[in-house]
Amino acid sequence: MEAAESALIEAVEVSAGYDNRRERTRLIALRDISLTVRRGEFLAIVGPSGCGKTTLINMIAGFVQPLSGTIKVRGMGVDGPGSDRAMVFQDYALLPWRTVERNVEFAVENRRGRVPKQDRERRIAEALALVGLAGFERSFPHELSGGMRQRVGIARALVGEPEILLMDEPFGAVDAMTREAMQAELEKIIAKTGQTVLFITHSIDEAITLGDRIVVISNRPGTIQEIIEVNLPRPRFDERNDVRRSARFGEIRAHLWGLLSGEALGAKSISGGPA
Ligand code: ADP
Repeated sequence: MEAAESALIEAVEVSAGYDNRRERTRLIALRDISLTVRRGEFLAIVGPSGCGKTTLINMIAGFVQPLSGTIKVRGMGVDGPGSDRAMVFQDYALLPWRTVERNVEFAVENRRGRVPKQDRERRIAEALALVGLAGFERSFPHELSGGMRQRVGIARALVGEPEILLMDEPFGAVDAMTREAMQAELEKIIAKTGQTVLFITHSIDEAITLGDRIVVISNRPGTIQEIIEVNLPRPRFDERNDVRRSARFGEIRAHLWGLLSGEALGAKSISGGPA
């Protein structure tokens, strides 16, 4: 079956939640999520705050276990973090006392079957070049702008050459101009590496600009409300053909805005709708 062959990540009827042991209560964050992510796909994930988006990618990362259901990567059950998956966080999560290159190195230094030193240095240099930070190897995080810090975060995720990039609102903390530049860079990087990306965002426009598909998650307990095929040509950042001006872009935007601005969904957490 062709569909099964190209499935890289498969979630089947996954529910997730958090126990409060003291009060003996359980908060159900996600309910019955079934989702297949294709190899090489860019999957954007949108939904109101608290609907379980982070929980979903944390389960795929292996940081959180489902309460029920299964998550498989390449047909194997996920039972913890692995070097085939890397996370990029909104707040960069850099070590302030380490230089840029040593922050990137962090991702490969404690690896089982360690990467030899020479190979490691080459990979760090390549990852930094890929995110446009060649020349900043010896800088410290506090010497960099927000956009540059996030580039370090991305280089750190890329250096281990993971098949899957899990990105939790990675551009949420940078200014609008930088954000657009970083979206364009990310698209270029992915075109080179062929990685599969799961990308959480609060921005409708960002989801459409970057995603091959957009998963819309409903208010908690989060369920999949809809999966939208974007069907816009790539590269999306092309001066001669700005997809954001296309009729298709406008159509998806209006549709998503309708879905997400529904009162039950808590419109406050969504940006990118009509002014
Ligand atoms: P989102 O990323 O969509 O904002 P999250 O996955 O972060 O949503 O959270 C889903 C729900 O689970 C929220 O109600 C949140 O408060 C709760 N939650 C998340 N992480 C934890 C945790 N470690 N312990 C307890 N509750 C949590």
